Amino acid sequence: MAAIEPIEKNAAGRRGYSVKNPATLEPIGEFQVTNAEEVREAVKRARVAQAKWARVPVKERVTYVQRALDLLIEREEQIIDVICADTGRGRMETRLMEIIPSADTMAWFAKRAESMLADRKVGLQTLLKMKRMVVTHRPLGVIGVIAPWNGPFVLSVNPTIPALLAGNAVIIKPSEITPFSGGLIEELFRDAGLPEGLVQVVLGDGETGAALVEAGIDKLSFTGSTATGRKVAESAGRNLVQVSLELGGKDAAIVCGDANIERAARGVLYGAMFNTGQFCCGTERVYVVREIADEFIAKVVEYAKELRQGSDGTQDVSAMTWPKQMETLERQVEDALAKGARVLVGGKRNASIEGAAFEPTVLVDVNHSMLVMTEEAFGPLLPIMVVEDENEALALANDSPFGLSGTVWTRDNARGMRIAKEFETGSICVNESSLTYGAHRAPFGGVKQSGMGYVHGEGAILHFTRQVPVIFDRLGMKTEQNWYPLTEEKNDGMGKLLKFFYGSRIWRKMA
Ligand code: NAD
Repeated sequence: MAAIEPIEKNAAGRRGYSVKNPATLEPIGEFQVTNAEEVREAVKRARVAQAKWARVPVKERVTYVQRALDLLIEREEQIIDVICADTGRGRMETRLMEIIPSADTMAWFAKRAESMLADRKVGLQTLLKMKRMVVTHRPLGVIGVIAPWNGPFVLSVNPTIPALLAGNAVIIKPSEITPFSGGLIEELFRDAGLPEGLVQVVLGDGETGAALVEAGIDKLSFTGSTATGRKVAESAGRNLVQVSLELGGKDAAIVCGDANIERAARGVLYGAMFNTGQFCCGTERVYVVREIADEFIAKVVEYAKELRQGSDGTQDVSAMTWPKQMETLERQVEDALAKGARVLVGGKRNASIEGAAFEPTVLVDVNHSMLVMTEEAFGPLLPIMVVEDENEALALANDSPFGLSGTVWTRDNARGMRIAKEFETGSICVNESSLTYGAHRAPFGGVKQSGMGYVHGEGAILHFTRQVPVIFDRLGMKTEQNWYPLTEEKNDGMGKLLKFFYGSRIWRKMA
């Protein structure tokens, strides 16, 4: 049973969806799909609001974000109710995954927005020492945010906050699978007193998302699957819209012979089962060296058996947010078993839950001929492959079309760093379970088919600005050597200048 069902025509004669809690299958509401015309209207409203917002001092913009953060803290339980109903997830996991990181993003950017957006004096190279340069930051205009269903609140909040503080308007298109969580953000900012039109939510499916890319926005922040990312990038290319793409992954964990076995087993299991495996940086495959493999696998199995799966809000592992994902999980497990894999824990549907739930599953005797080791699972599957040494582990970890994140488990940080430098992926954690997305200063972005562009990092807010350099003359001379007339004498002078500055090693050092 799907958690969303299409409505061909609602009372107003419009297309829409009815939505159920995917864990309990209780109906939670209906919504109408925003059509292309309405999306264009939203962009027009956003542009009007943005023109005024761009003139609001950054300090004042910060006060709106602070107020929204106050409301987030005040309304936390109600917000968790809505997100849990949308996703079927447990309450603590929702607090950990959605609320705390959103609050942290708001507080972090609010504190730094003024300094990050301040005009910057930048010194120029030798030939231009007589000039002065200031780099200014201007908003891009209207930012589109297209979000997936696996982190429906936080993955909309994360790009919205820096975009807004940088002086842009934002239009969010939440996933049709978790529509009401995205709607919370519009409400939060409206109640925080933000001018109308500055943060808008357009509900709908892929058609609405596609319309948003075509509607005249200035930048798109897209988070979702690689397949949709390609379509979005094509359309953004046609429309010359800037785009950042945060896409799928198949993150590997490398467990070295000197690992703290208990920490590695607990960390890898958490990485695989967090958000019921529906986590872009979730651990999707493990390579453990033979010398500790038996002990490591025994611990993973022990801890996996302790996981509580349910739908009452107190569970560790939940039902799938998007029931269709069950087909992928069943196909991958079936394929692995047919090719010689063994299931040590789970391996099938959990029929005790009303919604579509797959048991937390540990597989061994796996290899790269199996889909479970090569295709994104996005569910609670943990396949473990035994390898001879770290070099083999690294080669297998890199044998993937994806490169989002990854983990290394070793007691030796120098070894961890050596492996990290060879790991073909966007970010790496050593003895940590995928923390990089939550670290604001960490430039986060996928390589290969996992994405394009960065979010976060030192200049995170600047991703939503145009950097505009302004150069001033300092000396006020009547003319310059390179201005007209271009004479033989000046030409000779230029030749000498070239030799003087670039012909000498000393001057090159001062370039
Ligand atoms: P999806 O690609 O199916 O949908 C993502 C969003 O795109 C939804 O809002 C959807 O309605 C919209 N969309 C669909 N077709 C569109 C089109 N043609 N034009 C514009 N928008 C369109 O992804 P999903 O199933 O919602 O999310 C799961 C995927 O997201 C996984 O692959 C996961 O790895 C990835 N993800 C990546 C990150 C990251 O940071 N790299 C974070 C979370 C999720």
